[in-house]
Amino acid sequence: MQTSIYDCVIIGGGPAGYTGALYCARAGLSVLVLEQMTPGGQMATTGTIDNYPGFADGIDGFQLGEQMQKGAHRFGVQTKFEKVTAVDLAKDVKTITTDRGVWQAKTVMLATGAVPRRLGLESETRLRGRGVSYCATCDGMFFKDKTVAVIGGGNSAAEDALFLSKVCKKVYLVHRRDTLRAAKVYQTALEHANVTFLWNSRVCEILGDQQVTGIQIADGITGEQQNIDCNGVFVAIGRDPDTALFKAQIKTDNAGYIMADETTKTNLPGVFAIGDVRTKPLRQVVTAAADGAVASKFVEEFLSTQHI
Ligand code: NAP
Repeated sequence: MQTSIYDCVIIGGGPAGYTGALYCARAGLSVLVLEQMTPGGQMATTGTIDNYPGFADGIDGFQLGEQMQKGAHRFGVQTKFEKVTAVDLAKDVKTITTDRGVWQAKTVMLATGAVPRRLGLESETRLRGRGVSYCATCDGMFFKDKTVAVIGGGNSAAEDALFLSKVCKKVYLVHRRDTLRAAKVYQTALEHANVTFLWNSRVCEILGDQQVTGIQIADGITGEQQNIDCNGVFVAIGRDPDTALFKAQIKTDNAGYIMADETTKTNLPGVFAIGDVRTKPLRQVVTAAADGAVASKFVEEFLSTQHI
């Protein structure tokens, strides 16, 4: 076990985590970021990010993650690539156990983000990376001039379908209802795009042995089944917050997101939720980064009242 207690341990090294780390370190606090994969988190799997200000030509998500990490390290932040396996957040000194060790902190920022939701089909798991993808901006170019199906009816599905319609020969948008949940601006854009809608359609199976060759869908009203030929399937049916480790201690909403308002404070003193894992109206890189900055203010405020 470590001998000293960090002022702040941040679980998750995405844009929220590294912005929180940067601000805390610049305030003179000792900070450890625990990340299980790669700096940038989900953002690192995104191709070009065009809606994070300051990059006139856009920036690759992986590159932006690395830059955020470097910027935080410049002010003394430490990163350890370890998987958190247990937490004890209720005491004054919080304990975070990983697959490599045990860390202690006066405050904790939870920045674990959200992972893409799955259809739950065996064929989906088997063909992941063999035509099944959860990120159109990352993998869309693999399907240049081919036929793809996008599953979902929200903003992500609409955005993916629009993106793919510029790259692919044919794009199906498969939605389980007869109206989209996506914003009007996307709906209007879709009307003019190279996209074929398959309404009231449930995906029963993704077809293919080594590679996706199509999907089997069932009509939600008649139950009638049909096969649609395609080379790729983009699943865009929402995200699930990565909160399994905290749920017993931290209040979450019905969808599993950690309940915290704009202050990022959770129900536990000294514990803050930042980025996509928090209840919020818009999950974007820029709002995640903003959360990290806001949380640092309340970390400082909290520490000024503690005498650990
Ligand atoms: P979402 O808004 O929750 O939409 C999920 C879609 O997938 C819904 O249409 C839902 O159908 C469908 N769905 C859910 N589970 C399904 C299942 N098991 N099988 C088939 N279909 C299923 O998720 P999202 O589109 O990923 O968006 C998440 C958040 O990110 C939203 O707040 C969104 O506004 C935001 N976002 C913003 C932008 C932007 O502003 N540019 C872009 C992307 C995402 P029903 O409609 O029937 O429920």
